[in-house]
Amino acid sequence: MRMGSKALFLLFLILLSPVAFASPAQILQIEISRDRGFDYFDISTCGETKAKGMLLDNQLQVIFKDAALSPDIKISKGRSRRIKAIRLEQTSSEARVIIDFTQPIDYDIVNVFGRGKSIIEIFDRFDQAEQIMAAWEKANLATRRQLLKPYKLSPDPAGKDQSLAGKIFVLDPGHGGLDPGAIARDGSWEKNLTLAVAQKTALLLQGAGATVYLTRNDDRTKHLQDIVDYANGSKCDIFISIHYNFTSQSEIGGTETYYYNPQSRPLALILHESLLAGIERKDRGLRRAMYYAVHHTTMPAVLLEPVYLSNDKELKLAGSPDFQYQLAKSIVKGVKTYFRGQSNK
Ligand SMILES: [Zn+2]
Repeated sequence: MRMGSKALFLLFLILLSPVAFASPAQILQIEISRDRGFDYFDISTCGETKAKGMLLDNQLQVIFKDAALSPDIKISKGRSRRIKAIRLEQTSSEARVIIDFTQPIDYDIVNVFGRGKSIIEIFDRFDQAEQIMAAWEKANLATRRQLLKPYKLSPDPAGKDQSLAGKIFVLDPGHGGLDPGAIARDGSWEKNLTLAVAQKTALLLQGAGATVYLTRNDDRTKHLQDIVDYANGSKCDIFISIHYNFTSQSEIGGTETYYYNPQSRPLALILHESLLAGIERKDRGLRRAMYYAVHHTTMPAVLLEPVYLSNDKELKLAGSPDFQYQLAKSIVKGVKTYFRGQSNK
């Protein structure tokens, strides 16, 4: 019997398509329920796939790599004041469950191994970041100015990696001098930890051919307005402010990335993803907030809060040179991805 051309074409497609061929994972059913103030999404799957979350402001994307939505997927809907809308999205390699919320949330994901189930637990977000930041900014802007003393790293012309040649960065190690930033339980100061990471990041950027300005290279008090004026006058391509988070609840931990202006969002999103993949902390969300430095700067600008100094485990990480280096590498990897995307436009 001769194979019809349609069948041949289908066979060809199956052989070519890595998704259809290598991983038949499917998303079968989504059950939404509510218990003791939590919302639960029980997502049933078959085949090898694991849910990964990404919180983008008040939207949670639950991503299943190498998976497809079943054509007769069932969504059983429970009522919740938090959930605004749910939609499903399929790309060539992944299935996404996209949930919009009416309010800021926090979440945990448990992939029940061997049972074909991912459970997403949604709860109210405990967040003091904005109050803490607002109080600090107010205090900083009210202080008497000390002269800003930026430090320049020129690109190494002999360096092999020139992937960031011609790019200019302003890196801002949060706090400094009379302003220690957060003071952790073990006596560590945020200002020292931010400087350590900024210096490591600067060296890596310099090694990739970039020009880097640090808003400080030692223990020095800075004024937010001076940082913003300097960044805006520097003609830099990217501004990154490095901070560490702090809250009164010590069990809270994870990575948060902040931006304000719309032109900063693509960079913020890529850096957030890169940090999550590189330092492997809980996703605490990409967030838009009117923080002074990202609000008043004119280039793509982000403020990183990679981990919490109020969380013992993360405090330990923040003090470790290995972790600082991993964090610096993740930042640099992110900006390289960002510029690759820009040059393809
Ligand atoms: Zn800070």
